[in-house]
Amino acid sequence: MPVKQAEFLVSNSDPALCPKPDRPEYAFIGRSNVGKSSLINMLTSRSSLAKISGKPGKTQLINHFLIDNEWYLVDLPGYGYAQVSKTEREKFAALIDGYLTSRPNLLCIFVLVDARIEPQKIDLDFMANLGERGLPFVIVFTKTEKLNATKLQTTLANYRARLLEEWEEAPQFFVTSAITAAGREDLLAFIRPLNEG
Ligand code: GDP
Repeated sequence: MPVKQAEFLVSNSDPALCPKPDRPEYAFIGRSNVGKSSLINMLTSRSSLAKISGKPGKTQLINHFLIDNEWYLVDLPGYGYAQVSKTEREKFAALIDGYLTSRPNLLCIFVLVDARIEPQKIDLDFMANLGERGLPFVIVFTKTEKLNATKLQTTLANYRARLLEEWEEAPQFFVTSAITAAGREDLLAFIRPLNEG
């Protein structure tokens, strides 16, 4: 069933000012340009929901959306900009750290990965960090319509093998495309039962 209601709530740079943790929450994060805004719009069947928070200068913010009056979708800032100072990187790390440690209602983090590129250290390091904190996450492959079925299967197998060098088990994978809306039902079907707890 598609999302019925999607409402932008608040953008802020202070995790203490996020909405009260009174509903299940799911956060989306990945390298800048991975396709996060496009995925959020595709997932919620809205053409420009994530654009609200995508204005220049508003990128380093935690953005909360309320979905179907039932769960919070959180658009976290993208990481890995090439041209970012050490100070900016530290600010980003502090923001994400503050967020991750202050949301008892955070049920899952969706780490977005561009299916067209090799596993990147920055993504693997981020996942390792989540693992160390015991925070549940899954991997969402974006832009997958760019790969044919064979190449996609090889990519997924390679990614899994790379993860298994460090992890006992690989996290769950989702295959998505904002162009074809692939993966929407899978993601929503994953989120909804978790909501019911
Ligand atoms: P963000 O910076 O992570 O929020 O990424 P955006 O959603 O703004 O997308 C970055 C670029 O990737 C844009 O040029 C999008 O059109 C493109 N893009 C996003 N999702 C897809 C997808 O599923 N398929 C393809 N081919 N391009 C995509």
